[in-house]
Amino acid sequence: MSTPPIGPVAPGATIGIVGGGQLGRMIAIAAAQYGLKAHIYCPDPDSPAFEVAGRRTVAPYDDAAALQAFADSVDVVTYEFENIPRATAEILAARRPLHPSASALATTQDRLMEKAFVAGLGIPVAPFRAVDDAAGLAEAVREIGLPAVLKTRRFGYDGKGQVMLRDAVADPAAVMASLRDQPCILEGFVPFEAEVSVVAARTADGAFSAYDPCANEHRHHILARTVVPAPGMAPQTAAEAVAVARTIADALGYVGVLAVEMFLVRGPDGRAGVVVNEIAPRVHNSGHWTIEGAQTSQFAQHVRAICGWPLGSPALVGTAAEMLNLVGDAAADWPAILAEPGSHLHLYGKGEARPGRKMGHVTRVTTGP
Ligand code: AMP
Repeated sequence: MSTPPIGPVAPGATIGIVGGGQLGRMIAIAAAQYGLKAHIYCPDPDSPAFEVAGRRTVAPYDDAAALQAFADSVDVVTYEFENIPRATAEILAARRPLHPSASALATTQDRLMEKAFVAGLGIPVAPFRAVDDAAGLAEAVREIGLPAVLKTRRFGYDGKGQVMLRDAVADPAAVMASLRDQPCILEGFVPFEAEVSVVAARTADGAFSAYDPCANEHRHHILARTVVPAPGMAPQTAAEAVAVARTIADALGYVGVLAVEMFLVRGPDGRAGVVVNEIAPRVHNSGHWTIEGAQTSQFAQHVRAICGWPLGSPALVGTAAEMLNLVGDAAADWPAILAEPGSHLHLYGKGEARPGRKMGHVTRVTTGP
């Protein structure tokens, strides 16, 4: 049997991870399993990822000298969240391979660029318009109609930076002020049957691998539960969703794991289809089930992709998996979860369980029929 070629980053090398949250923590754990070291860069001295990494840099994202020293100390750089400034990505990319690239980051961190990019690939997205001010909002509402969702172009997450517009907008200036007058995008409301995501990986030489699409349920705009396979998603629709993710990954020249969040919709003819909502240029909360539920976890897959290693199998270990986020006080139930046979508990080592804060997750894998 011939062995696929291995990239230049071998066990013993160091991965630089920008961002110190739970995603960085789980990437570092996966890297350690492969004999790789991790160096985490994060401005917050209390970052959960620091606890599992050999090296840390605590510095702001615009500290060019600290970024350069960080890059010089690692073999490859990745990031765990998309809101790092473009200039930061470029400083890093000038010194070390940065995966995903600075241009993939630029496209996906701006909702307007992202929507235009996806639509340009012929992939369905909600109708959208750029909105820069109150007059622009009034005009966009006239064109798109209501209900609609107004979102800031940048820095939105977990429902932050967006407003649902149901009824006539009496005071567009007040709506814009509620989003601190930031540049926005207005999107037509998509009457979806379910929210699904495709977590997938691509390597620099174009190898691609996707997990089965999973269904995501949100509570208070925060992911609460992920189930795979997505209930009620026909194999043909699942294949279409994966093909959409591949088209996006190829067009971005993407390297690493990405998640494409989609709405499952049904056309007037009763035919199911998908509409892309957004792309996360990183490992994703809806992929946490893969740690125990898939042959290769999303974190191991990301490490493989950015190191130029062959991708692992994305196949389900059992027949289904469920992941529940432990948000805020829910993490206090950890002894009961621990006592439950077959449940896999993950706690992120965060101090205070503030409302809305993701403290951990639990995964259950179904192995029976
Ligand atoms: P986002 O921050 O874009 O992921 O949006 C957060 C949540 O708002 C999504 O998971 C959906 O539940 C809902 N949402 C966002 N955009 C739309 C849309 N255009 N139509 C319907 N629901 C939406």
